[in-house]
Amino acid sequence: MPTLNDIAELVLPGIDPSLEHLEERFPKRELKQGAEVTRFAPSPTGFLHTGSLFTALIAYVIAKQTGGVFIFRVEDTDTKRTIEGSDRQLLGQLLRFGIVPDEGWFPEGDKGAYGPYRQSLRADIYKSAVKHLLLEGKAYVDFATPEDLAKIKEAQEASKVLPGYYGIYARDRNLPLEEVERRVKAGEPWVIRYKSMGDHNGKTGFDDLIRGHIELQDNDMDIVILKRDGLPTYHFAHVVDDHLMGTTIVSRGEEWIPSTPVHLQLFADMGWKAPRYAHLPVIMKLDHGNKRKLSKRKDPEASVGYFEEMGYMPKAVLVYLMSIANSNFEEWTIETKDYDISHFGFSFEKMSLDGALFDMDKLNYFSREVLAREKGMGLVREIADWAAVHSPSLLAKINRDPAYFSRCIDIEKDRPNPRKDYAKYSDIEASVAFFYDDEFAKIKAKGLPYDPKFDKELISAFFGKCRESMDFGEDENAWWNSVKAIASAMGFAIANKEYKANPSAYKGNMADAAGLLRVAITGSKNSPNLHEVISILGKERVCARLCLD
Ligand code: GLU
Repeated sequence: MPTLNDIAELVLPGIDPSLEHLEERFPKRELKQGAEVTRFAPSPTGFLHTGSLFTALIAYVIAKQTGGVFIFRVEDTDTKRTIEGSDRQLLGQLLRFGIVPDEGWFPEGDKGAYGPYRQSLRADIYKSAVKHLLLEGKAYVDFATPEDLAKIKEAQEASKVLPGYYGIYARDRNLPLEEVERRVKAGEPWVIRYKSMGDHNGKTGFDDLIRGHIELQDNDMDIVILKRDGLPTYHFAHVVDDHLMGTTIVSRGEEWIPSTPVHLQLFADMGWKAPRYAHLPVIMKLDHGNKRKLSKRKDPEASVGYFEEMGYMPKAVLVYLMSIANSNFEEWTIETKDYDISHFGFSFEKMSLDGALFDMDKLNYFSREVLAREKGMGLVREIADWAAVHSPSLLAKINRDPAYFSRCIDIEKDRPNPRKDYAKYSDIEASVAFFYDDEFAKIKAKGLPYDPKFDKELISAFFGKCRESMDFGEDENAWWNSVKAIASAMGFAIANKEYKANPSAYKGNMADAAGLLRVAITGSKNSPNLHEVISILGKERVCARLCLD
């Protein structure tokens, strides 16, 4: 009659089942008081989703603000869903957003002492833990084939009971060890299941860091912990990895709440203390007044790649996501001059529970705010890096003269209330086009939007005088006084009050005069500060634009 030991050795030969050797290999971390170990653990099944970036950001911020450790772990145990290269892509996207793991999987090699950080390379570790449970009688060999499972499900549907492998339906839970030995030796495929002692009518509770106390039905499912391919399921890998890597807070999507009871059982049966959990809300969107989940299929903003393509500053996206995470964040950004997001005190308690709402207008608002505070050649380099991938024509403009480009985009940025006319890099090309004579020629060819109440002769005469006597110096007041003098001499009212009192006595007011200049010089009725534009273009080019033909 074979013993449990024989069975364990038969299915997992040569694997050391002692938990001590695992604890030695992954010693308890020496952390300072309050330091949290968090992780972002994506499955490499595609690009980074906005919800995943949100999850990663929260884990990162918690680790940073407590002086802890942030881990990047690749969860690739579902080999059928794994997409080649997705691991690099996910990490690359995180890094571009400045979310730099302290430990984890990197293409050039692991960083940190708790690796490997890629689950498919940790098979032996999981097998040790599985063998430990087998020896303790807390796991068993199960031979049910997918066809058997389908039949069990059918029977459960017919008798209207919960589907799953549990109780009387857990067919192989109590197989005699001889039979197990015989069938394994005969080459029948098997998996290892957890032998749950949970009571379906009982309750399991835990304190979620965001949601407070959660009571759920106890788990009585004998879930698979080791698959036919020798790799664990998510549930078991989570327990083993987060214990051995010393994770103190598991922050993950709320879709994992229903699985938490089985995770807590597994921690207890392994003799390990469970981490604290924070189940993050799913990111929602308002669609014709209804809230729904961001959809990969319908919403481009569901993919982080969209923000990269459009040229949102990574910092701006993070600032925006933080505003979704904590309701007091926006106020903090207003109160805190020149804030640095890493100084914000994030807290789980301030997280909204009814689904974080993604709003493009709000993202654009934050992006404008963030971009307004960036300037100089550092910003030019960032834009050029983006343009090199996404906008060859913008890159060509930058490369013609980077310092000139910098002046164009930095207009009004030195002011207490800087310009906020672009939210993302892809807005910039259109907004600087008029600074480039070839582009300006195209704008002009389409017809300039002069106010129709002024006839061509008047405009031409006004511009002629401007070419002759407008002040082109550095001083904005001197320039404006010269414009006023010219306009006044041509019959425009200097004081708006006088104009309003008697409009027919004047050609127009100073806003009209400035408007004509603005259209001639920038091609538009709206532009950044006209004096700064004139200084950048220089007298010769401005005078050329002040000729009507
Ligand atoms: N690989 C899991 C997922 O992508 C991770 C969940 C977790 O963070 O534990 O959903």
